[in-house]
Amino acid sequence: MKKIVTADKLPVLWSHLAGQGKLLLPVKEGPTVLFKEWTAGDEVALDAPTSAISPKDIFFPREETYMRYRCRGPVLELSAGEEFEPVTAFGVHPCDLKAFEMLDRVYLDQDPVDELYRDRRARTTVVALACFAPDPFCFCSVFGIDPVSAPGADVIAHLDRQSGNLMLEAQTVKGEALLKGDASLLTEANGQSYGPALVKTADFGLKLSGLSENLKGRFEDPAWDKLYKSCLGCGVCTYVCPTCYCFDVEDYGHEMAGERFRCWDSCMYGQFTLMAGGHNPRPSRKERIRQRFLHKLQYYPETYGEIACVGCGRCLRSCPVNLDIVQAIIALGGEQNVQR
Ligand code: SF4
Ligand code: SF4
Repeated sequence: MKKIVTADKLPVLWSHLAGQGKLLLPVKEGPTVLFKEWTAGDEVALDAPTSAISPKDIFFPREETYMRYRCRGPVLELSAGEEFEPVTAFGVHPCDLKAFEMLDRVYLDQDPVDELYRDRRARTTVVALACFAPDPFCFCSVFGIDPVSAPGADVIAHLDRQSGNLMLEAQTVKGEALLKGDASLLTEANGQSYGPALVKTADFGLKLSGLSENLKGRFEDPAWDKLYKSCLGCGVCTYVCPTCYCFDVEDYGHEMAGERFRCWDSCMYGQFTLMAGGHNPRPSRKERIRQRFLHKLQYYPETYGEIACVGCGRCLRSCPVNLDIVQAIIALGGEQNVQR
Protein backbone atom coordinates (compact mmCIF):
# COMPACT_ATOMS: atom_id res chain seq x y z
CA MET A 1 0.00 0.00 0.00
CA LYS A 2 1.45 3.37 -1.08
CA LYS A 3 0.01 6.76 -0.18
CA ILE A 4 1.01 10.38 -0.72
CA VAL A 5 0.66 13.29 1.68
CA THR A 6 1.15 16.67 0.09
CA ALA A 7 3.40 19.18 1.87
CA ASP A 8 0.51 21.49 2.78
CA LYS A 9 -1.23 18.62 4.60
CA LEU A 10 1.72 17.49 6.72
CA PRO A 11 0.70 19.62 9.75
CA VAL A 12 -2.75 17.99 9.54
CA LEU A 13 -1.10 14.56 9.42
CA TRP A 14 0.95 15.40 12.55
CA SER A 15 -2.19 16.50 14.40
CA HIS A 16 -4.03 13.40 13.23
CA LEU A 17 -1.25 11.05 14.44
CA ALA A 18 -0.77 12.95 17.69
CA GLY A 19 -4.47 12.42 18.35
CA GLN A 20 -3.95 8.66 18.27
CA GLY A 21 -1.18 8.55 20.89
CA LYS A 22 2.29 9.98 21.26
CA LEU A 23 3.88 11.25 18.03
CA LEU A 24 7.66 11.46 17.89
CA LEU A 25 9.36 13.42 15.10
CA PRO A 26 12.72 15.05 14.32
CA VAL A 27 12.14 18.59 15.54
CA LYS A 28 14.38 21.68 15.36
CA GLU A 29 15.46 23.17 18.66
CA GLY A 30 17.64 26.14 17.70
CA PRO A 31 20.46 24.73 15.56
CA THR A 32 19.90 21.19 16.87
CA VAL A 33 17.54 18.48 15.65
CA LEU A 34 16.09 16.26 18.36
CA PHE A 35 13.85 13.23 17.96
CA LYS A 36 11.10 14.13 20.41
CA GLU A 37 7.40 14.31 21.11
CA TRP A 38 5.74 16.67 18.65
CA THR A 39 3.56 19.50 19.87
CA ALA A 40 1.67 21.95 17.67
CA GLY A 41 3.95 24.70 16.38
CA ASP A 42 7.13 22.59 16.40
CA GLU A 43 9.37 22.91 13.34
CA VAL A 44 9.64 19.41 11.86
CA ALA A 45 13.00 18.66 10.19
CA LEU A 46 12.42 15.77 7.80
CA ASP A 47 15.20 16.98 5.50
CA ALA A 48 17.88 17.05 8.23
CA PRO A 49 20.59 14.41 8.72
CA THR A 50 20.26 12.20 11.80
CA SER A 51 19.08 13.76 15.08
CA ALA A 52 21.75 14.84 17.60
CA ILE A 53 20.85 12.01 19.99
CA SER A 54 19.68 8.66 18.66
CA PRO A 55 16.01 7.68 18.90
CA LYS A 56 16.85 4.54 20.92
CA ASP A 57 15.06 6.16 23.87
CA ILE A 58 11.73 5.31 22.22
CA PHE A 59 12.24 1.78 23.55
CA PHE A 60 15.04 2.35 26.05
CA PRO A 61 14.34 5.68 27.81
CA ARG A 62 17.05 7.62 29.60
CA GLU A 63 15.18 7.00 32.85
CA GLU A 64 12.51 4.44 33.46
CA THR A 65 10.74 3.45 36.67
CA TYR A 66 10.36 -0.26 37.38
CA MET A 67 8.07 0.06 40.38
CA ARG A 68 6.92 2.37 43.14
CA TYR A 69 6.26 1.54 46.78
CA ARG A 70 4.34 3.35 49.49
CA CYS A 71 3.60 2.38 53.08
CA ARG A 72 0.11 3.23 54.33
CA GLY A 73 0.14 2.26 57.98
CA PRO A 74 0.95 -1.44 58.08
CA VAL A 75 0.13 -1.90 54.35
CA LEU A 76 2.85 -1.86 51.70
CA GLU A 77 1.48 -0.81 48.30
CA LEU A 78 3.42 -1.66 45.15
CA SER A 79 2.62 -0.27 41.71
CA ALA A 80 4.08 -0.66 38.24
CA GLY A 81 6.18 2.28 37.22
CA GLU A 82 5.12 3.05 33.67
CA GLU A 83 1.90 3.68 31.80
CA PHE A 84 2.15 2.65 28.15
CA GLU A 85 0.38 4.44 25.32
CA PRO A 86 0.56 3.93 21.53
CA VAL A 87 3.49 5.70 19.88
CA THR A 88 4.19 6.63 16.27
CA ALA A 89 7.91 7.19 15.70
CA PHE A 90 7.99 9.10 12.41
CA GLY A 91 11.21 9.82 10.55
CA VAL A 92 13.61 7.17 11.84
CA HIS A 93 16.69 7.02 9.61
CA PRO A 94 17.79 3.62 8.22
CA CYS A 95 20.97 3.58 10.37
CA ASP A 96 18.91 4.05 13.54
CA LEU A 97 16.47 1.41 12.39
CA LYS A 98 19.36 -1.04 12.01
CA ALA A 99 20.46 -0.12 15.54
CA PHE A 100 16.99 -1.11 16.84
CA GLU A 101 17.72 -4.59 15.45
CA MET A 102 20.97 -4.67 17.47
CA LEU A 103 19.18 -3.63 20.67
CA ASP A 104 16.44 -6.20 20.00
CA ARG A 105 19.04 -8.98 20.11
CA VAL A 106 20.18 -7.84 23.53
CA TYR A 107 16.79 -7.12 25.07
CA LEU A 108 14.42 -9.49 23.27
CA ASP A 109 16.38 -12.49 21.99
CA GLN A 110 17.27 -13.53 25.54
CA ASP A 111 15.58 -15.48 28.27
CA PRO A 112 14.11 -13.67 30.14
CA VAL A 113 13.26 -10.86 27.74
CA ASP A 114 13.36 -7.27 28.93
CA GLU A 115 9.64 -6.69 29.44
CA LEU A 116 9.68 -2.89 29.48
CA TYR A 117 11.62 -2.80 26.22
CA ARG A 118 9.32 -5.44 24.71
CA ASP A 119 6.16 -3.55 25.66
CA ARG A 120 7.42 -0.23 24.34
CA ARG A 121 8.49 -1.94 21.10
CA ALA A 122 5.08 -3.61 20.70
CA ARG A 123 3.06 -0.42 21.11
CA THR A 124 5.20 1.59 18.65
CA THR A 125 4.65 2.01 14.92
CA VAL A 126 7.92 2.90 13.21
CA VAL A 127 7.89 5.09 10.11
CA ALA A 128 11.38 5.12 8.60
CA LEU A 129 12.57 8.00 6.45
CA ALA A 130 14.78 7.35 3.42
CA CYS A 131 17.85 9.61 3.47
CA PHE A 132 18.62 11.81 0.50
CA ALA A 133 21.22 14.18 1.94
CA PRO A 134 23.56 12.42 4.39
CA ASP A 135 26.10 14.78 5.95
CA PRO A 136 29.90 14.25 5.70
CA PHE A 137 29.93 12.26 8.97
CA CYS A 138 27.45 9.60 7.82
CA PHE A 139 29.14 6.31 6.87
CA CYS A 140 26.38 3.72 7.17
CA SER A 141 27.21 2.22 3.75
CA VAL A 142 30.44 0.85 5.29
CA PHE A 143 28.20 -1.45 7.34
CA GLY A 144 26.10 -2.53 4.36
CA ILE A 145 23.16 -0.29 5.26
CA ASP A 146 21.20 1.14 2.34
CA PRO A 147 20.26 4.73 3.27
CA VAL A 148 17.10 4.62 1.16
CA SER A 149 15.59 1.34 2.32
CA ALA A 150 14.31 0.26 5.71
CA PRO A 151 13.58 -3.43 6.13
CA GLY A 152 11.88 -3.92 9.48
CA ALA A 153 10.07 -0.56 9.53
CA ASP A 154 6.28 -0.55 9.50
CA VAL A 155 6.27 2.20 6.90
CA ILE A 156 9.02 3.68 4.73
CA ALA A 157 8.65 7.36 3.84
CA HIS A 158 10.31 9.13 0.91
CA LEU A 159 10.42 12.90 0.85
CA ASP A 160 10.26 14.68 -2.48
CA ARG A 161 12.72 17.48 -2.05
CA GLN A 162 11.18 19.80 -4.63
CA SER A 163 7.54 19.59 -3.65
CA GLY A 164 8.01 18.63 0.01
CA ASN A 165 5.41 15.88 -0.48
CA LEU A 166 5.84 12.56 1.32
CA MET A 167 5.29 9.11 -0.14
CA LEU A 168 4.45 6.47 2.45
CA GLU A 169 4.72 2.76 1.76
CA ALA A 170 3.38 0.23 4.27
CA GLN A 171 5.66 -2.74 4.93
CA THR A 172 3.75 -4.47 7.74
CA VAL A 173 0.19 -4.92 8.98
CA LYS A 174 0.80 -2.15 11.54
CA GLY A 175 1.97 0.08 8.72
CA GLU A 176 -1.14 -0.64 6.67
CA ALA A 177 -3.31 0.26 9.64
CA LEU A 178 -1.50 3.60 9.88
CA LEU A 179 -2.10 4.39 6.22
CA LYS A 180 -5.78 3.51 6.28
CA GLY A 181 -6.50 7.08 7.23
CA ASP A 182 -8.61 9.89 5.96
CA ALA A 183 -8.69 9.71 2.11
CA SER A 184 -8.54 13.51 1.88
CA LEU A 185 -5.23 13.41 3.76
CA LEU A 186 -3.62 10.28 2.32
CA THR A 187 -4.14 9.87 -1.41
CA GLU A 188 -3.26 6.82 -3.53
CA ALA A 189 0.24 6.95 -5.03
CA ASN A 190 -0.90 5.57 -8.39
CA GLY A 191 2.50 4.35 -9.54
CA GLN A 192 4.47 7.48 -8.56
CA SER A 193 7.81 7.10 -6.83
CA TYR A 194 10.04 9.58 -5.01
CA GLY A 195 13.62 9.88 -3.97
CA PRO A 196 16.96 9.03 -5.55
CA ALA A 197 17.63 5.35 -6.24
CA LEU A 198 21.12 5.57 -4.82
CA VAL A 199 22.56 7.59 -1.96
CA LYS A 200 26.23 7.30 -1.11
CA THR A 201 27.75 7.98 2.28
CA ALA A 202 31.39 8.44 3.29
CA ASP A 203 33.63 5.40 3.77
CA PHE A 204 36.71 7.08 5.30
CA GLY A 205 38.80 4.37 3.64
CA LEU A 206 37.73 1.87 6.28
CA LYS A 207 38.20 -1.87 5.82
CA LEU A 208 36.14 -3.96 8.20
CA SER A 209 36.58 -7.43 6.80
CA GLY A 210 38.60 -9.53 9.25
CA LEU A 211 38.80 -6.66 11.78
CA SER A 212 36.88 -8.42 14.57
CA GLU A 213 38.98 -11.57 14.14
CA ASN A 214 42.13 -9.51 14.04
CA LEU A 215 41.32 -7.85 17.37
CA LYS A 216 41.44 -11.15 19.24
CA GLY A 217 44.73 -11.25 21.10
CA ARG A 218 45.24 -7.46 20.83
CA PHE A 219 44.02 -6.64 24.30
CA GLU A 220 47.50 -5.38 25.26
CA ASP A 221 48.24 -3.77 21.89
CA PRO A 222 50.33 -0.56 22.10
CA ALA A 223 47.66 1.17 19.98
CA TRP A 224 45.51 1.50 23.12
CA ASP A 225 48.29 3.48 24.88
CA LYS A 226 48.08 6.20 22.24
CA LEU A 227 44.38 6.08 21.48
CA TYR A 228 42.99 6.93 24.90
CA LYS A 229 45.23 9.90 25.75
CA SER A 230 42.94 12.68 24.52
CA CYS A 231 39.75 11.19 26.00
CA LEU A 232 38.06 13.44 28.59
CA GLY A 233 35.83 10.69 29.94
CA CYS A 234 32.73 12.81 29.33
CA GLY A 235 30.63 9.88 28.08
CA VAL A 236 28.99 11.88 25.28
CA CYS A 237 29.93 9.22 22.72
CA THR A 238 27.91 6.56 24.55
CA TYR A 239 24.89 8.80 25.18
CA VAL A 240 24.44 9.77 21.54
CA CYS A 241 25.19 6.29 20.17
CA PRO A 242 22.19 4.22 18.97
CA THR A 243 23.91 0.89 19.73
CA CYS A 244 25.06 1.57 23.31
CA TYR A 245 22.66 -0.08 25.72
CA CYS A 246 24.15 -0.12 29.24
CA PHE A 247 22.08 1.01 32.20
CA ASP A 248 22.25 1.31 35.96
CA VAL A 249 19.50 0.35 38.45
CA GLU A 250 18.95 2.56 41.49
CA ASP A 251 16.49 3.05 44.32
CA TYR A 252 15.24 6.48 45.29
CA GLY A 253 13.17 7.29 48.36
CA HIS A 254 12.94 6.43 52.04
CA GLU A 255 11.28 3.77 54.22
CA MET A 256 7.75 5.11 53.60
CA ALA A 257 7.79 5.67 49.81
CA GLY A 258 10.06 5.52 46.83
CA GLU A 259 10.82 3.94 43.53
CA ARG A 260 13.25 1.68 41.72
CA PHE A 261 14.37 2.97 38.34
CA ARG A 262 16.99 2.41 35.69
CA CYS A 263 18.89 5.04 33.75
CA TRP A 264 21.48 5.07 30.98
CA ASP A 265 25.01 4.46 32.12
CA SER A 266 28.34 4.71 30.32
CA CYS A 267 31.42 2.49 30.21
CA MET A 268 33.39 5.73 29.88
CA TYR A 269 32.81 6.58 33.55
CA GLY A 270 35.18 5.46 36.29
CA GLN A 271 32.33 4.36 38.55
CA PHE A 272 30.83 2.09 35.89
CA THR A 273 32.94 -0.85 37.06
CA LEU A 274 33.78 0.34 40.58
CA MET A 275 33.07 -2.49 43.00
CA ALA A 276 31.77 -2.20 46.55
CA GLY A 277 35.15 -3.12 48.02
CA GLY A 278 36.89 -0.33 46.09
CA HIS A 279 38.47 -2.44 43.34
CA ASN A 280 38.05 -1.17 39.79
CA PRO A 281 39.00 -3.50 36.92
CA ARG A 282 38.99 -0.51 34.52
CA PRO A 283 40.84 2.06 36.59
CA SER A 284 41.87 4.49 33.83
CA ARG A 285 40.50 5.91 30.60
CA LYS A 286 42.74 3.51 28.69
CA GLU A 287 40.80 0.46 29.93
CA ARG A 288 37.49 2.25 29.35
CA ILE A 289 38.28 3.33 25.80
CA ARG A 290 39.47 -0.21 25.07
CA GLN A 291 36.24 -1.62 26.45
CA ARG A 292 34.08 0.74 24.41
CA PHE A 293 35.76 -0.05 21.12
CA LEU A 294 36.37 -3.78 21.71
CA HIS A 295 32.75 -4.19 22.72
CA LYS A 296 31.59 -2.72 19.42
CA LEU A 297 34.26 -4.21 17.19
CA GLN A 298 34.99 -7.61 18.75
CA TYR A 299 32.73 -8.75 21.61
CA TYR A 300 29.35 -7.92 20.07
CA PRO A 301 30.34 -9.48 16.71
CA GLU A 302 31.53 -12.62 18.54
CA THR A 303 28.09 -12.99 20.10
CA TYR A 304 25.79 -11.67 17.38
CA GLY A 305 27.78 -11.84 14.15
CA GLU A 306 28.09 -8.15 13.24
CA ILE A 307 29.87 -5.01 14.40
CA ALA A 308 27.82 -2.89 16.82
CA CYS A 309 28.11 0.33 14.85
CA VAL A 310 25.73 1.59 12.16
CA GLY A 311 27.83 4.51 10.91
CA CYS A 312 25.35 7.15 12.11
CA GLY A 313 28.25 9.57 12.59
CA ARG A 314 27.07 10.86 15.97
CA CYS A 315 30.30 10.09 17.85
CA LEU A 316 32.20 11.83 15.03
CA ARG A 317 30.03 14.94 15.40
CA SER A 318 29.90 14.99 19.19
CA CYS A 319 33.24 13.96 20.70
CA PRO A 320 34.93 17.15 21.90
CA VAL A 321 38.39 15.75 21.08
CA ASN A 322 37.53 13.89 17.85
CA LEU A 323 38.18 10.48 19.36
CA ASP A 324 35.54 8.52 17.50
CA ILE A 325 35.07 5.02 16.18
CA VAL A 326 36.59 5.88 12.80
CA GLN A 327 39.80 6.98 14.54
CA ALA A 328 39.76 3.77 16.56
CA ILE A 329 39.26 1.51 13.53
CA ILE A 330 42.11 3.25 11.72
CA ALA A 331 44.39 3.00 14.78
CA LEU A 332 43.62 -0.71 14.97
CA GLY A 333 44.61 -1.31 11.36
CA GLY A 334 41.18 -1.18 9.75
CA GLU A 335 42.14 1.33 7.07
CA GLN A 336 42.45 0.50 3.43
CA ASN A 337 45.60 1.41 1.61
CA VAL A 338 43.93 4.25 -0.28
CA GLN A 339 44.99 7.72 -1.35
CA ARG A 340 42.93 10.33 0.52
S1 SF4 B 1 35.80 9.42 23.45
FE1 SF4 B 1 35.24 11.61 23.27
S2 SF4 B 1 33.02 11.69 23.67
FE2 SF4 B 1 33.77 9.68 24.41
S3 SF4 B 1 34.22 10.00 26.60
FE3 SF4 B 1 36.15 10.37 25.49
S4 SF4 B 1 36.16 12.59 25.08
FE4 SF4 B 1 34.03 12.07 25.66
S1 SF4 C 1 29.89 4.12 17.34
FE1 SF4 C 1 29.57 6.23 16.57
S2 SF4 C 1 29.08 6.03 14.38
FE2 SF4 C 1 28.87 3.98 15.33
S3 SF4 C 1 26.69 3.81 15.83
FE3 SF4 C 1 27.72 4.60 17.68
S4 SF4 C 1 27.62 6.85 17.52
FE4 SF4 C 1 27.10 6.00 15.48
